[in-house]
Amino acid sequence: MSLTYRQIAQTLAEGGVEAAEFEAKQMLRQYGEDEKALRGAMERRLGGEPLQYIFGEWEFRGLRMLVDSRVLIPRADTELLVDTALELLPVQARVLELGAGSGCISVSLALEGMEAFACDISAEALQVASQNAALHRADVHWFEGDMKQGAGIAQGPWDAVISNPPYIARRELASLQAEVRREPMLALDGGEDGLDFYRAIIRQYPVSLVDGGLILLEIGYDQAEAVCALGEEAGLQVLTCRKDLNGIQRVVCLQKK
Ligand code: GLN
Repeated sequence: MSLTYRQIAQTLAEGGVEAAEFEAKQMLRQYGEDEKALRGAMERRLGGEPLQYIFGEWEFRGLRMLVDSRVLIPRADTELLVDTALELLPVQARVLELGAGSGCISVSLALEGMEAFACDISAEALQVASQNAALHRADVHWFEGDMKQGAGIAQGPWDAVISNPPYIARRELASLQAEVRREPMLALDGGEDGLDFYRAIIRQYPVSLVDGGLILLEIGYDQAEAVCALGEEAGLQVLTCRKDLNGIQRVVCLQKK
């Protein structure tokens, strides 16, 4: 007889998985009655791998995204960044994404009609991103590049620059959940105070924006004030700051005057 929900949830809980019941449900949804697959997944999960990498896919705004250890796992929080962009930009906006990872942001924007260009410093991540674009027949122009070196500035002008950059402060990296530490450090490490990439974006990219153009950023739980201040220092206007479902400031939108 196949494994029951109870058995899976209990085994995961005993192995220290925090959301054992939720994950047991997800596993049953993914593998159904396939006991061999279920046991394999449980074993990997108990070994510390995130559920999303085991499945090899995860949903973002209702879209199936392929994910593995080459990319950061798409977060529900990041849906707010996409929704904000869709609300504030014209449908045919020409946008540049910095640090595309799995590609979930640019694929979403392209499917809504925007002209999306997206770069990442990791060639491996770009392989995953372009697979995701192909899966959804989304037309995104991917390229390898480093936002700290101004990648994509020469291809402007842009209606918007959008990014969910690495934003974890150095001192907080070690205390991240074990699962998060399985994700690419390159996608998490925001430097000493977590703000390195915001500095790089806000100081370099305004020249590549049209007048009235936007910089849309996902931010960490305590970074709203610092990121808004960086924007003002660079002569940008803070257009809006949005809270996520937990009431945490999660998206900052700066505008070129
Ligand atoms: N949201 C991720 C986390 O808290 C961080 C992603 C990032 O640095 N952009 O684990």
